[in-house]
Amino acid sequence: MKAKFSHVLMLLGALLAFVPIVSVDYLIDAYARNKEVGSLQARIDALSAEINYNASNAVSVLRKVIADSPSFCTPTFTGIAQTAIENSYNVKQILVENMDGVQYCDAFGRNVAHSPLSESLPVPGLTETIGIVKFAEMTMPAMKVTQTLGGVRRISAFVPLMATTEQSLADNLPDGAMLDIALTSGLPVLAIGAPLDFDRQGGRSDYLAVQSFAGELPIKVRYMLPFSVARAGYADLDVLFTILACAISAGLLLLTLRYARRSRVPSFDLERAIGRNEIKPYYQPVINLRTGGLVGCEVLCRWEKPNGEIVPPGVFIDYAEASGMAIPMTLSLMQQVRYDLGELSQRTPGLKISINLFEGHFRDVGIVDDVQAIFGNSPISYDQLVFEITERRPLENSLAVNSVISGLHALGSRIAMDDAGTGHSNLAYIATLGVDVIKIDRIFVDMIKPGTTQVPVLDGLIAMAKDLGCEIVAEGVETEAQAIYLRSRGVVQAQGYIFAPALKVGAFKELALALLSAPASYSDLSDESEIVTDAA
Ligand code: MN
Repeated sequence: MKAKFSHVLMLLGALLAFVPIVSVDYLIDAYARNKEVGSLQARIDALSAEINYNASNAVSVLRKVIADSPSFCTPTFTGIAQTAIENSYNVKQILVENMDGVQYCDAFGRNVAHSPLSESLPVPGLTETIGIVKFAEMTMPAMKVTQTLGGVRRISAFVPLMATTEQSLADNLPDGAMLDIALTSGLPVLAIGAPLDFDRQGGRSDYLAVQSFAGELPIKVRYMLPFSVARAGYADLDVLFTILACAISAGLLLLTLRYARRSRVPSFDLERAIGRNEIKPYYQPVINLRTGGLVGCEVLCRWEKPNGEIVPPGVFIDYAEASGMAIPMTLSLMQQVRYDLGELSQRTPGLKISINLFEGHFRDVGIVDDVQAIFGNSPISYDQLVFEITERRPLENSLAVNSVISGLHALGSRIAMDDAGTGHSNLAYIATLGVDVIKIDRIFVDMIKPGTTQVPVLDGLIAMAKDLGCEIVAEGVETEAQAIYLRSRGVVQAQGYIFAPALKVGAFKELALALLSAPASYSDLSDESEIVTDAA
């Protein structure tokens, strides 16, 4: 349950680690949109403010001319109008008409050739009306600000919408952008750039669209830009933030991995556990099936965590082997065995101690030196040691394997084939390695059911082992029927729950002492002598 929870956490962590990378695009999109809309709005506001300013400038020029002129279309009036135009920022013309548009006079004494683009519209807060007109010689439309006098005459001031030209506006427009000026009624006044439809496309997310109203005037300025055009300017930011996001993601991933190392597989702590002697030897008695006496033990291990949890080897042994940690682990176990069983071994010279080696041990000769360093000058003699070859991984019949085996043989120790009949071993190959003991795997022992009279595979294994001249130890004996069957087939040594599980050193020593002091105590182990004992 705890393991599953941490798996889920790790998976979440790994997924979350990629959030920064995935969100970079989204964040920069949002940032670019926000920033661009802001700057576009400012530009458009400036344009509409200019229109508004121009209109109010025209209004004040017009009011001044009306106020200063005692009558219209006199030379005095023309003079006043001309001066007003010259002094104004951008008013171009002043015109007096009747209500039907018949021109009476203007500031320069000619006909004012202009065509209306719109009717005259009222402006809130002003007595003047405003209309849009076009002069033939000007591309920029103009505003016609008109005051009606006495219901019979109209006097108007003309001012371009903006001081700039249509061309100059177009030049400053990015590709794909659209700028237009329209009346609030929707009537188009000026359109520059791409033929975009503000009303139809302005709300779409692939466009940036802003608009601004020219004060109280019925005029609006609108601007549209494909988002992709604006976004292209943020490519540098993309690169920068992607790098940043990658760094953050990598950091998060690293944290997740570190969490995984700490929490998931307990094996990740194995190195520390070995250093702290938390991998403890447990001793499983090997029993003589004929006498019930103690033959010796197999050294198994448990991980005793400081919190009291005891981890069986199945959880960490594969990792230990794959990581190369099996070698220091075995060293640590052997040192503890020397300490635990020294006295007992000295008292009982026939006691056999079986130690599991791994495939990795057979790849360099160091293990022979290690065995010498630990058991040389110890109460445990080399000939009390049996080294088990476990074949979780295939052993190569290489020079190194052979020299490890012959090195251990030279010390007087013996070699056992563990879990025989499973894994990669085959018995013919075992013969070439010089194995002394064959440990029959529990799966063959399990085949012995109550009342069974023969188990061909097991019987075959036993026969082959005998042919090879090997001692036999049966593993995983759990029932009396199994013990009796094995004994009937000439198997003398056995280990398993029917006798004892792997025991802590204290319990094992107690059991050993009890068995050794019993009448049917420790006896010779060879098959021949057993038969003699039997016959006796
Ligand atoms: Mn074993």
